[in-house]
Amino acid sequence: MAATTVPLSPRCGSTPRSRRKRRAIRRLVPAIDRHHPVRSCIGCRQRRPASELVRITRSADGIVVDGPSSGRGAWLCRAVDGSGDAELATIESSCLDEAIRRSQFARAWRTTIGRDELDAIRTTNNTR
Ligand SMILES: [Zn+2]
Repeated sequence: MAATTVPLSPRCGSTPRSRRKRRAIRRLVPAIDRHHPVRSCIGCRQRRPASELVRITRSADGIVVDGPSSGRGAWLCRAVDGSGDAELATIESSCLDEAIRRSQFARAWRTTIGRDELDAIRTTNNTR
């Protein structure tokens, strides 16, 4: 009995259909993804996954950076400094400066905010 071997076409299997399909979906709906929410940095205005941003909220207790809070959130880019300390989120300082300069916190929180409160965010950020 002579076995007939059918050579596999190089096109078959090298490019899985699922991969192509996933890429197409991402192109069609870039932001609508429950598992990867996208937020805009109030400093540089870039849209990024929420995991790459730090959420800053203002409540009656004060300003909370990257902590549990139900207040209105302002999002800023998360600094990547390579220290690997995931416990303390650090804000990208250029984005923080830009947000303070253009009063973006007041806009995000829909309130007036004192210069001293903004400086406190910066001080906290710099000591992290
Ligand atoms: Zn930013």
